[in-house]
Amino acid sequence: MLYNQVQDLKGTIRVYCRVRPFLQGQTNGQSTVDYIGENGNIMIVNPLKQGKDARKVFSFNKVFGPTVSQEQIYVDTQPLVRSVLDGFNVCIFAYGQTGSGKTYTMSGPDLTTEQTWGVNYRALSDLFQISKERADFVKYEVGVQMIEIYNEQLNGLNVPDASWVPVSSTQDVLELMRTGQKNRAVGATALNERSSRSHSVLTIHVYGKELVSGSILKGCLHLVDLAGSERVDKSEAVGDRLKEAQHINKSLSALGDVISALAQKSAHIPYRNSKLTQVLQDSLGGQAKTLMFVHISPEVNSIGETVSTLKFAERVA
Ligand code: ADP
Ligand code: MG
Repeated sequence: MLYNQVQDLKGTIRVYCRVRPFLQGQTNGQSTVDYIGENGNIMIVNPLKQGKDARKVFSFNKVFGPTVSQEQIYVDTQPLVRSVLDGFNVCIFAYGQTGSGKTYTMSGPDLTTEQTWGVNYRALSDLFQISKERADFVKYEVGVQMIEIYNEQLNGLNVPDASWVPVSSTQDVLELMRTGQKNRAVGATALNERSSRSHSVLTIHVYGKELVSGSILKGCLHLVDLAGSERVDKSEAVGDRLKEAQHINKSLSALGDVISALAQKSAHIPYRNSKLTQVLQDSLGGQAKTLMFVHISPEVNSIGETVSTLKFAERVA
């Protein structure tokens, strides 16, 4: 059953939209989300516009409202994650403006609370669990690699050469991540600032050997927390900030171009236009599967970014 479901997803691109709840202290705010339908529709209302121009509907594979739990999000992500153990390559992206919930979806608000774990730790523990269940048939090895792409440059986060480290439990990975964060010579605020301007890619490599036939399976899962998609005011950004903004802009549009070319089954896929799409080339297109979570903030003052995020997402869907 699961296997067939996974086969159906092969080579496809799915887009899920997630709406962040109002943050504490803002609960009485007016929301730009007017309506979330059952079939992946979301209606946005722009309070600055009048009449029929004020409302617009966007359609995706699924839309998750502000009360949807981390666990529910993972239920709809799990089939893709598990297919990595059958030898598929999978990319899962988190897209959206800074503060819209990308890191919340991918990692969760804090490493120590399992209940709010995001997709990455849930995926890892799931992969470890399933590989144990299959131990009589397949011998799996799992390794992780963490890289950051900042200003079109690639940096390894916890190992100098960005090579991959073998791991045997989620605990191993959590420790690796803590070390990785400590090794970066920046404080928490600076880390947060920087992380919103870089793409971080956690890659889980799976290598399996079928015990009876001796055949080899290789799959990998890329979990990508993208740089914030907000447009920077050109009159305000200067120097380094302007350069960062240009790099982010370029790489996010290159990603959009690749995914929409794949969705349209176009003959030429423009992988070479950014570091990010180069790094992920083998896992985008062909037999690989892609899932993009697009995040929106419900606040009225985010309406411009919300609409441009949803337009970006519709283009790749
Ligand atoms: P981003 O990574 O896109 O900049 P964050 O994931 O850091 O955004 O989210 C911004 C804030 O909103 C954080 O305080 C985070 O804990 C909170 N948040 C985001 N999404 C949710 C959610 N679905 N439920 C509860 N809090 C959320
Ligand atoms: Mg973030």
